Amino acid sequence: MTSILIKNSWIVSHPRKILRGNLYIEDNLISEITPKNMEADFVIEGRNLVVCPGFVNSHTHVAMSIMRGFLDDMEFTEFLRKTSEIDARMEERDIYLGAKLGIIEMIRSGTTLFFDMYYGEDIVAKVAKELGIRAALGWAVVDEDKTTQKGNPLKNAERFIKEYRNEDKIYPMIAPHGVYSCSDETLLKSKEIADKYDVPVHMHTAESREEVYGHYKRKGNRIIEYLSDLGILSPKFMAVHAVWLTMREVKILKESGAAVVHCPTSNMKLGIGGYPPIPEMMEYGINITIGTDSAATNNSLDIFREMRMAALIHKNSRWNPSLLKAEEVFKMATENPYTFLSLKGGRIEEGYLADICIIDGNDLSMQPLSKSNIINDIVYSATAQAVKYTIVGGKILQWKKHLQEILNDINDSEVFLWLSGMKNLEN
Ligand SMILES: [Zn+2]
Repeated sequence: MTSILIKNSWIVSHPRKILRGNLYIEDNLISEITPKNMEADFVIEGRNLVVCPGFVNSHTHVAMSIMRGFLDDMEFTEFLRKTSEIDARMEERDIYLGAKLGIIEMIRSGTTLFFDMYYGEDIVAKVAKELGIRAALGWAVVDEDKTTQKGNPLKNAERFIKEYRNEDKIYPMIAPHGVYSCSDETLLKSKEIADKYDVPVHMHTAESREEVYGHYKRKGNRIIEYLSDLGILSPKFMAVHAVWLTMREVKILKESGAAVVHCPTSNMKLGIGGYPPIPEMMEYGINITIGTDSAATNNSLDIFREMRMAALIHKNSRWNPSLLKAEEVFKMATENPYTFLSLKGGRIEEGYLADICIIDGNDLSMQPLSKSNIINDIVYSATAQAVKYTIVGGKILQWKKHLQEILNDINDSEVFLWLSGMKNLEN
């Protein structure tokens, strides 16, 4: 059993409880928060450090990190068309490299758990294990005639779930891509698989107006109403985006116990033109989480930027600067997603998972440092740059050596080379 002692630091137990003391980690759990001095295998001098729960990126497509900067400034349907063209070219090695690049970026920004949607999640799982991050991995499902993956997506998803459901730190999910790419049958079968193995359903919902009105034309109802009628919603359902909703749909979501993933930057970059009714969802007590979405629509996986964006856009669009307070946003990016997975994590408390982000209190973004402004600084001013250590399950993750390796490898990835040659630039 290995132990870590973080001495005399600021400890953000949860947003309303910040104390100074020693934090003792034993094996994969936080075992004690104490004023006493203790012995440990590894000691971190914490005088200028802020110890807070690790952050959670609740929606991304991590393998798409290889596409960063190649898919910008285009219309949404064109973006989807191009993405699926690239997806079809992605070989196992490209998925591996993309996933590695994205996971390093997340670890570097204090992320201890992420939720992913893609095919090839077995490869993403391999990288997550190699790097030590906790990962909820949703195998993407679309109708068989629309897929770029080899074989039947539902069968692939079931095989993945079966193989990985008992793996340490891996939480398999099924991820229907959206109502525009999944038929009733595909959705019902996805739910059947989720129930059979007791895993979550992670799905893009009501992201754009085209999606909502296209669906209305085909089916005569709104997307959340439709998913509710099909029996897909449950406390194990994660509605990603959930932008274009009526209040009736917000109520349905609440009654179903489903969680929501808010991805503000991606929505803005794709010109979605609206924001999910997060203040109303908060009033209803819906479990809200935050996601960056992929490096193709963000283009960063830095959760600090996403917290800031989430806090800002609702204040601005509702003409109300007191909406989405820093401590509320902080909870969306830490405790809420752990609760969704029924994991005892996302808080610094005895008996909780030792999934921790340690921030340098001397970083300019955290100065001047005081107990009263720590959370506000983390949400509004800090970036990945301020992160000193990321600890998952009691292990300090090492990302620097992996980064060196990958920077060399990525240059000869087939997809990267193809993307690089796409644009004719003047010499
Ligand atoms: Zn997405």
